[in-house]
Amino acid sequence: MSATLVVNEIYLSLQGESTFAGLPCVFVRLTACNLRCSYCDTAYAFTQGSKMAVEEVRAKIDELARPYGMTKAEGQSPNEGVESHHSSFVIGHSRLPLVEFTGGEPLLQPNALPLMKQLCDDGFTVLVETSGAIDISKCDSRVRRIMDLKCPSSGESGRMHWANIRQLRATDEIKFVIGTEQDYAWAKEQIATHQLERICPLLFSWVAPLLPHQQEKSLKPFPTDHTPISRKDLVERIVADKLPVRFQLQMHKFIWPPDQKGV
Ligand code: SF4
Repeated sequence: MSATLVVNEIYLSLQGESTFAGLPCVFVRLTACNLRCSYCDTAYAFTQGSKMAVEEVRAKIDELARPYGMTKAEGQSPNEGVESHHSSFVIGHSRLPLVEFTGGEPLLQPNALPLMKQLCDDGFTVLVETSGAIDISKCDSRVRRIMDLKCPSSGESGRMHWANIRQLRATDEIKFVIGTEQDYAWAKEQIATHQLERICPLLFSWVAPLLPHQQEKSLKPFPTDHTPISRKDLVERIVADKLPVRFQLQMHKFIWPPDQKGV
């Protein structure tokens, strides 16, 4: 019987975050998460999804990527040096579209790991968005791991798998999602304690408030003793403190309605 994944959605859109922001990307959103961050805007992926054979998932990725150039289905792998009448679109070292595994928590499904490797073998730039609570060491070394360090207002700081920090490479990214002054102070402290800027790019993302219908009951409560921070205050503090970080806004939320799925 073939290996399967439980998939919430697969779609082509724009990468809204990270140092890859703005580039076309096939998103593979896998079902389930073991955390319940207070600000989670993808609670619909906690349980909704359908079982798909890994080959079906790959076929869907190829279908969405095909207009950009070569796919495995066409038997032409750039890594094998096969000449093709199709040309792949490449920006920098990244073939387009990117392929991102997200969720939920994609690393809860081990069958995603061989698929990531296969996509890397076939020349794709593969990203994985992970919460920081799961061991990241099993991912193929070519996969770009965008790993959260959950700040206190998430309610999930205590769940971090700190050994992950030793696994990170220069091609990975660490993301802090910041909603309060306490989050900012915590993130700043982690950077200093672990000298994170020496490891990989650091992303500071402002927490976008959830719309009423996104406030799923199982999410951790927002801590009542925290002081919310505005986008402007966050940016001004980053500049004043000369932090070596990249501020980012979730681009897709400015292009489409902030609760729109499949973008
Ligand atoms: S880790 Fe991500 S998907 Fe899971 S609850 Fe937190 S924000 Fe939501």
